[in-house]
Amino acid sequence: MKRVRTRIAPSPTGDPHVGTAYMALFNYLFARHYDGDFLLRIEDTDQTRSRPEYEKNIFEAIQWCGLQWDEGPDCGGKYGPYRQSERTEIYRKHCYDLLASGKAYKCFVTGKELAEMREIATKTGQRQGYDRRHRNLTEEEIKKREEEGQPFVIRLKVPLTGECVYEDAIKGRMSTPWADVDDQVLLKSDGFPTYHLANVVDDHLMEISHVIRGDEWLSSTPKHIMLYEAFGWEAPTFLHMPLLLGIDGKKLSKRKNPTSIFYYRDSGYLPEAFTNFLSLMGYSMEEDKEIYPLEEIVKCFSEKRVGVSGAIFDIRKLDWLNQQYMINTIPENELWNRIQEWGFNDAFMQRLMPLVHTRIKTFAEFMELCQFFFINHIPYTEELLTPGSKTTNEISAMILQTMIWSMEKQENWGRSGIEQGSREMAEIFGLNHKKVIMRLLYATITGKHTGPPLFDSVDLLGKDRTRARFLQAIEFLGGLSKKKLSSLEKAWASGDCKELI
Ligand code: GLU
Repeated sequence: MKRVRTRIAPSPTGDPHVGTAYMALFNYLFARHYDGDFLLRIEDTDQTRSRPEYEKNIFEAIQWCGLQWDEGPDCGGKYGPYRQSERTEIYRKHCYDLLASGKAYKCFVTGKELAEMREIATKTGQRQGYDRRHRNLTEEEIKKREEEGQPFVIRLKVPLTGECVYEDAIKGRMSTPWADVDDQVLLKSDGFPTYHLANVVDDHLMEISHVIRGDEWLSSTPKHIMLYEAFGWEAPTFLHMPLLLGIDGKKLSKRKNPTSIFYYRDSGYLPEAFTNFLSLMGYSMEEDKEIYPLEEIVKCFSEKRVGVSGAIFDIRKLDWLNQQYMINTIPENELWNRIQEWGFNDAFMQRLMPLVHTRIKTFAEFMELCQFFFINHIPYTEELLTPGSKTTNEISAMILQTMIWSMEKQENWGRSGIEQGSREMAEIFGLNHKKVIMRLLYATITGKHTGPPLFDSVDLLGKDRTRARFLQAIEFLGGLSKKKLSSLEKAWASGDCKELI
């Protein structure tokens, strides 16, 4: 059998997502079980959204989960570089090979033309997507357009008839009519590859034997299979894992749940419990065993035991599991050390003391003042969250939701981010900054009316726990309907939400 090589291929475009840890775990388990290699590749082809700090966070988060990779951008390896932005020439060369062999073609269609195609397709109920109008341009036509300086993309020639059939090692036999698959863009007009091209070229050159990824990539797989065929390469085995779902049965989303791995770290979960919990998602051990160290599942891992339907990410289950780990793996006399390391460490306390210094009359008041830094669930009341005479549950929920959007847009969850956001809320909702907005934000973060200053506290609490608090408060207030959310989003974009209250 070919050497087993698996990879995790995250895009550094946001916070390290629990879905990335979940995929890393199963790629890790598979590679370790079969004595193979597990590598980490950074897919940063989206130049506008990729950031070095997101990449750093991915490393840190996956390492926190205890899933060390063998090859990657940080530690190298013989198949490098492992960062796609450093491989652009490789993709370009391969794409031009396909062009030369007639498996791909230049397409000069403009954004406007594509929009027209979409409109017509919607009206006539036809398949959405590109209508292949430049698939058979003559040499002269291509030359003429190039001489005119028309920008072009390179598209893959996908078969017009027949079916793409392949065997998914989890889902079984899969088939898709080729007629449903678009002539995929491989190289964009700026010369950068799309995800599909870079992903396939890299998986081949890095000798990946098994591609283990989430169900959301199922619809891309026929395009990838076609690409392997066009290059004359053997495709890897595909394993599509069930999606992580929230307890409402819908795709886990950061709109409703904390999805950053750091949230779980910062909220005091143990990494061993967290990875054990992730391994229960879509996988069942023999005799339904639920608590086991990573080494144990590595030993007995079998892809046959991976489920096909969605896996529910239930925090109550994680809480239970975490408690079992605390009891079984941390002896009593170690517990305080561990709690100290987590939240009562010197570095944190030195930052906290200036906020406390002039605000306590006795040491005993320290905990009273600062407990919100050390708890995950604030005991909210309606009275706390609806300051001012006119504020209703819904109005507060709208302000908090808009606050999330504002801080996200600013990409600033620190002190100046919340300050700017709070002023923006006062203005667009036409509400008093001090008496309504600040009181609502203060209550949301601390669960109290008074205490340490808000902006500094948010800085210390960190992005993920702050975000989670906004979400919890919105939920406590009864949430926002889909309709309300969409009108709120529109109003916020226009810079005026007064009509909604
Ligand atoms: N870059 C893709 C992601 O962000 C990789 C998908 C795959 O594993 O092929 O998840």
